Amino acid sequence: MADTKSKVKETKAKVTDQKPRIGVFVCHCGTNIAGVVDVKAIIEYAKTVPNVVHAEDYQYVCSTPGQKKITDAIKEKNLTGTVVAACSPRLHEPTFRRATKEGGLNPFRFEMANIREQGTWVHMHDPAGATEKAKDAIRIAVAKASLLEDLTPKSVAVEHAAMVVGAGIAGMQAALDLANAGIKTYLVEKLPSIGGRMSQLDKTFPTLDCSQCILTPKMVDVGRAENIELLTYHEVDAVEGFIGNFDVTLRKKANGVLSMAEAEAKGISGGGCNGCGDCEPVCPVIKPNPFEMGMKPRKAIYIYHPQVVPLLYTIDFDSCIKCGLCVTACGEKKAIDLEMKDELRKVKVGTVVLALGYDMFPVENKREWGYKQFDNVVNSLELERLICASGPTAGHLIRPSDGQTPKRVAFVLCAGSRDNTGIGKPYCSRFCCMYSLKHAHQIIEKIPGVIPYIFYMDIRSFGKMYEEFYYRIQDEGAKFIRGRVANILEDPVTKNLHVYAEDTMLNRPIDLEVDMVVLAAAVQPAADTDRTRKLFGVSCSQDGWLLEAHPKLNPCGTTTAGVFVAGVCQGPKDIPDTVAQAEGAASAASIPIHIGKVELEPYFAQCIEEKCAGCGMCVNLCPYSALSLVDKEGGGKVMQVTEAKCKGCGTCGGFCPGGAIWMQHFATPQVIAQIDAFLLGGAK
Ligand code: SF4
Ligand code: SF4
Ligand code: SF4
Ligand code: SF4
Ligand code: SF4
Ligand code: SF4
Repeated sequence: MADTKSKVKETKAKVTDQKPRIGVFVCHCGTNIAGVVDVKAIIEYAKTVPNVVHAEDYQYVCSTPGQKKITDAIKEKNLTGTVVAACSPRLHEPTFRRATKEGGLNPFRFEMANIREQGTWVHMHDPAGATEKAKDAIRIAVAKASLLEDLTPKSVAVEHAAMVVGAGIAGMQAALDLANAGIKTYLVEKLPSIGGRMSQLDKTFPTLDCSQCILTPKMVDVGRAENIELLTYHEVDAVEGFIGNFDVTLRKKANGVLSMAEAEAKGISGGGCNGCGDCEPVCPVIKPNPFEMGMKPRKAIYIYHPQVVPLLYTIDFDSCIKCGLCVTACGEKKAIDLEMKDELRKVKVGTVVLALGYDMFPVENKREWGYKQFDNVVNSLELERLICASGPTAGHLIRPSDGQTPKRVAFVLCAGSRDNTGIGKPYCSRFCCMYSLKHAHQIIEKIPGVIPYIFYMDIRSFGKMYEEFYYRIQDEGAKFIRGRVANILEDPVTKNLHVYAEDTMLNRPIDLEVDMVVLAAAVQPAADTDRTRKLFGVSCSQDGWLLEAHPKLNPCGTTTAGVFVAGVCQGPKDIPDTVAQAEGAASAASIPIHIGKVELEPYFAQCIEEKCAGCGMCVNLCPYSALSLVDKEGGGKVMQVTEAKCKGCGTCGGFCPGGAIWMQHFATPQVIAQIDAFLLGGAK
C-alpha cells in the first residue's frame, strides 16, 4: 500500500504545482466543422482562455501535417498539454495522443473537445450557437488539460490461448484461423455438434453449392485440428479477469454418453461411443427433433444430425425415463452413464471470439399470417429441411396438411423484419431476400410447372453475383409482386391459402390462392446471447445484437478489450460476410497473443490510504471485482485496487463517502475545474 500512497501524493503534487502551458488546435474537418462555425472567432477566443499559450487552426488536424503542427508547437512553445477541438475521441484520441507523445509530452497530457459530433453536426442550422458551444467545449477541455498528469499504461502478459464461443460457420472459421496461427484454441459449443445453422441448410446462394458439401470438410478439419480443443455440449458459466487473462468457467453438460477418450480415461478399455447407433432403436421415448424443425421425431438418446462432429450420441435427460434399455443395447462398449452429472472446468485464455449465431423470429407473433394456425404456412428454415435431401421428406417438397406436391407457393418476404409495429423487428434481416430467391429456384427445379409468387417490399441483392442471381430467378418464371402481405386465410376444406396484399406497382388489391406459404422470417439474437454477452461484459444494440467497438474502425472488437465478435450475433449477415468477419476477428484476437503483452488504459482508481476508513462499501459496488479490503499497517483495513481489473468506470470514486478514491485521468480536481470552466466562464 505504501507505493500507492506515495504515488497518489506525488500525482496530486504534480497536478497542483505545475504552471500549465496549453496549446489548442482547432480542426476544420473540411467543411464538417468550418462550414458551420466561425473558426477564426474560436481561435481568437481560445487565445483568451487561461493557460492557453498557443492556438491555431488547420484543415485536417488528423493528417500528417496536422499532427506535425502539434508536435512542433509542443517543442517551440514548451507546452505542458494539448487540446484538439475536432471530432469524437472515439475516432482520433489515439492519433493525437501519439502526436502529443512525439512532441515530447506524456501522451495522457492531451484532451479532446468534441465540436463536430456534439457541435456542428447537431447544430448545423445554428452557426452562431455552434460557435459559442465550441468555445465552451474548448474552455472546458483546457481547464482539464491544465490539470492533467503523466500516466503510464500498465502492461500485462497475455495467455497463449484463445476461446471461441459458438461453433457455427463463424466460430469454426475463427477457431481454425487461430489454431493455424499456432494458438491453442478452445471451441465451445452449446449443442452436441459443431456446424451451426449452416448445417440445416440445403444449398447456399448464389452459387447453389450444397451446404453440407462446403461445411463437412470444415467440420472435419476442426475436429482434427491439433490446436483446437473441441468442447461441444458445453456452456460458459462464469468469466473473470481481463484481456490477456480471462479465467472462463465452462459447464460440460451431462450428455450421458462417454466418448472413447473419456472411456479410456475411466479405464474402460476399448469402450466408449463409436456411433454404432444400436441404442437408438430400443429407446421408447420419442420427441420432436429440433434440428428438423420438429418435423421428424427423435429418441431420448440421439445423434444431433448424420454428419455430427464429434461422432457421439447424446441423452436428453429432460425426456429420458432411465429405463436402461440403451445401456443393454450398448453392451460391452459401456458408453452410457445414466447418472452422469454436469461438470465444471476452468480454462485461462488471452482473448475470446464470440460467435453466438441467431434464432428465427417467432413469426407466429404476427397473427395475420397464420403461422402455427394453418398447416401449410411454414417458415423458411422449415422449408430448408423440407427440400433438403437429408431432411424429413428426403428432399421431396410436400404440403404438411396432406403430403401433396404444391403447385403454387407464395413467399412472404420481410416477415417480421422492417416492421415498426412493435411486434416485429425494425431492421432488415439482410439475407432473406436472397435465400427466398434460392428457394424459388429450388422449387422450380424440383416441381415441374410450379409457380413461386414472391411478395416483396424491395429485393436487396447487394452481394457479389447476387443481382445476376435475381435476374436468373425472374427468367426462370418466378412471379414478383411488390407489396406487403396484409393477411393470410385458410380455406378449411382444401387447406389452400388466400394471400391478401396490395400490388403497389399496379396499385390494386390482390387475393391470391396458393397451396403453400413460406414466411421469410426475421432473424433475432440466439436465445442465450444476452446471458453470454453479460458474462463477458459486452454491450449490445437496442435489438440485442452484440455491439462492435466501432462500426467502421473496429468492427470485430467489442466494448470489452480482448473480446471480439464474429458472424450474425453482431448483426444479420450472409455466409461470405460471416466468414470474412470471422477471419477478421480471429486475426484481431491473435495479435495480443502473438505480442505476448497488452497495455491497459491507465484510468485506474487509486486509494488515498489516509482517507480510507476501510468501510468496504465500495468493494461490492465495483462491477468488475477490482476492489478488495486488505490489512492496513498498524491495524484496521484499507481498500486495495487490482489495477489490471479496473476499467476506470468511476462508480467507486463517485460513491466513496470519505473521498478516498482518486480516479486517474478523471480526478476530482480535474472534473471540478471542468464544471467551473463551464459555469463560470473564464476568459482572461
Ligand atoms: Fe475530421 Fe476529426 Fe480528422 Fe479533424 S481530426 S479532420 S474532425 S476526422
Ligand atoms: Fe454409442 Fe453405445 Fe449408442 Fe453405440 S450403442 S451409439 S456405442 S452409446
Ligand atoms: Fe431412452 Fe433413457 Fe431409456 Fe436410454 S434410459 S433407452 S435414453 S429412455
Ligand atoms: Fe426484407 Fe429482403 Fe431485408 Fe429480408 S433481406 S428483411 S426480405 S428486404
Ligand atoms: Fe475506503 Fe471509501 Fe472504499 Fe470505504 S468506500 S473502503 S472509505 S475507499
Ligand atoms: Fe471498479 Fe470502476 Fe472503481 Fe475501477 S473505477 S475499481 S472498475 S468501480
